[in-house]
Amino acid sequence: MGNSVITMRGLCKSYKNQEVLHDFSLIVERGHICGLIGPNGAGKTTIMKILAGLFFPTKGELELFGSSENLDNSRARMSFMIEQPIIAGSMTARENLQYIRYLRGYPDERRIDEILDIVGLASTGKKRANKFSLGMKQRLGIGKALLPKPEIMVLDEPVNGLDPEGIVEVRQLIKRMQEEWGVTVLISSHLLSELSELCTDFSIISHGNLIENLSREELLVRCRNHIALRTDDINKTAAVLEDKLSIHDYKVIHGEEIQIFERLGDIHHISKTLTDNGLVITKLNEEGQNLEDYYLEKAGGRNE
Ligand code: ADP
Repeated sequence: MGNSVITMRGLCKSYKNQEVLHDFSLIVERGHICGLIGPNGAGKTTIMKILAGLFFPTKGELELFGSSENLDNSRARMSFMIEQPIIAGSMTARENLQYIRYLRGYPDERRIDEILDIVGLASTGKKRANKFSLGMKQRLGIGKALLPKPEIMVLDEPVNGLDPEGIVEVRQLIKRMQEEWGVTVLISSHLLSELSELCTDFSIISHGNLIENLSREELLVRCRNHIALRTDDINKTAAVLEDKLSIHDYKVIHGEEIQIFERLGDIHHISKTLTDNGLVITKLNEEGQNLEDYYLEKAGGRNE
């Protein structure tokens, strides 16, 4: 694939004899922000640990920067923040970054100021990291990950537990990383709404299964407007839609409502056909599906 920097094909992972990741596949394109979305225990951290080389997959293929060879060399071009960022609480933000710079031997000291500025910690001065808010700690963790100028950042639940202000700050930081430095980002969350504005692509997983990979545009189309319909006989309504109106793109919700995703301009014709067939319509109007409802339905299992 032309511009893909991460390719996972059919990845499986078992702990002891239990498979917690089944046949997971995902392609991340350079410069994209891909959201790995799934409830707790879905397998997000497991996928990230496989990417980081902390776990070997039981099955499947992994390519980084277009190659499955020399993965450790490729990983040197990536940064990972998996689970909690490791921060020395007795050190300031600058000292934390300096420590990593010495440890890894990064020559450019000016980068410390650049990073403190981009992560919004330039004015924290002598304040020790153990006095930082959770959001500040997350931003410092991201700053540490940015130090080696990675081409890809893998961030595991970086907004988990943050207050709304902290979430906005971390999101803005990730957007800046992508826009100004061209960093590709794989980021996980158990809430689609936290990342829906940020990500260019989404991978929805549940119980170790890939539910759907889709672009932001596709997600918006899926949450598109539909006709919401209730009648006195849902089964007969579904039959009339199929047989008399050739409508197949619809969904029955809780056995009591039908959402029709096609022929939105045809509402009068649909209404007439249903009444001509003896149905009593109790609701018929155009609505849009909420993003979080879409995700919950996908990750939590279909209603029908
Ligand atoms: P998520 O990051 O989406 O919350 P995880 O990847 O952490 O999910 O976990 C996926 C599943 O794998 C869970 O059922 C979890 O209990 C299990 N799991 C994770 N790590 C281990 C481990 N080291 N040993 C055994 N089971 C594990």
